[in-house]
Amino acid sequence: MATINDNYLKLKAGYLFPEIGRRVNAFADANPDANIIRLGIGDVTEPLPDACRSAMIRAVEEMGDRASFRGYGPEQGYAWLREKIAAHDFQARGCDIDASEIFISDGSKCDTGNILDIFGNNNTIAVTDPVYPVYVDTNVMAGHTGEANDRGEYGGLVYLPISAENNFTAEIPTEKVDLIYLCFPNNPTGATASKEHLQAWVDYARSNGSILFFDAAYEAFITDPELPHSIYEIEGARECAIEFRSFSKNAGFTGTRCALTVVPKSLTGKAADGSDVELWKLWNRRQSTKFNGVSYIVQRGTEAVYSPEGQAQTKALVNFYLENAKIIREQLTVAGLKVYGGVNAPYVWVQTPQGLSSWDFFDKLLHTCNVVGTPGSGFGAAGEGYFRISAFNSRENVEEAMQRITQTFRV
Ligand SMILES: *Cc1c(COP(=O)(O)O)cnc(C)c1O
Repeated sequence: MATINDNYLKLKAGYLFPEIGRRVNAFADANPDANIIRLGIGDVTEPLPDACRSAMIRAVEEMGDRASFRGYGPEQGYAWLREKIAAHDFQARGCDIDASEIFISDGSKCDTGNILDIFGNNNTIAVTDPVYPVYVDTNVMAGHTGEANDRGEYGGLVYLPISAENNFTAEIPTEKVDLIYLCFPNNPTGATASKEHLQAWVDYARSNGSILFFDAAYEAFITDPELPHSIYEIEGARECAIEFRSFSKNAGFTGTRCALTVVPKSLTGKAADGSDVELWKLWNRRQSTKFNGVSYIVQRGTEAVYSPEGQAQTKALVNFYLENAKIIREQLTVAGLKVYGGVNAPYVWVQTPQGLSSWDFFDKLLHTCNVVGTPGSGFGAAGEGYFRISAFNSRENVEEAMQRITQTFRV
């Protein structure tokens, strides 16, 4: 009889979004005329930039001609794309990152999970609380945790609480942890990290031999010129950090699929015999064996992000969502709610009013305003008492949702 990976049985059965769906469906069934506005999901809504579409159409035509047809591409991505990314996203900001250190992939979600393939099973792992659930669940699947308690916290993980008290940036741990997940600008809180905060993490990682997993999926939403966009803007990060980036949120590629992971050649980890092994070699081997690269068509579409038109169009997309976030922030403040984030990120993190729990506030918004958000407790125990509102929606929906909320909550 084939056995299964029992670690999957420890997972909290994808509780958050199915439960939201269940409550929304029950409400919709009972109130068929309600116009429900969903500000809960972290998916983009606006169409792909014209520059990307045109480049993909040209690439499709190339595929139809024997002379320009492409079969398997390099597993790491085409050099012309890796070079553009290295020059534009890293070298232009003073980061010493070479094109050969950039691995093109089909998603940051996948890569933040897959990266665990090249690490041992006995590392101590730290995540913030609240957190992007993928970091936790992939460690559960890999057998790096114990069972979850009734607050949803897994044994064996180090949780670093983030809240308004610490500006939603975790205290540097006093204990030794080996792998640390950081996400800035943050999903779900919309918080950002200063150079000083990231420097403290890099210094910690270097003195403990730890590796930072830096998720910069929302880098394009940074508006404050003082904030770092890449972990490699921080002195010493080449020695201790892997960075994940994605075209999902800046170019609307959630359905098109393209992302990248940076593994500097200067990174090492310890082998069982005590020797230092280059992580780049392991990741390169992992990708060459288990991944066939992103399609030529999509890589051409991604390359177009770096053309002058692509730059202008992706900037306009990001600004559109940031304007939504601004409206959400302003209107929720008018409604008397305390809000965080939403300035350098497409998420507004709301403190629930009157001491309501995250789920009670969810129900209240759904029933009184017909607006759906995401309960903060779904992102971790320390998210209790908070609520995430996403700026990924049409202007019309955002304005309508905010009008309903201000009418209900205005004091
Ligand atoms: C959306 C998002 C990503 C991007 O994931 P893709 O797989 O590239 O679409 C990565 N990290 C976080 C925290 C996200 O919210």
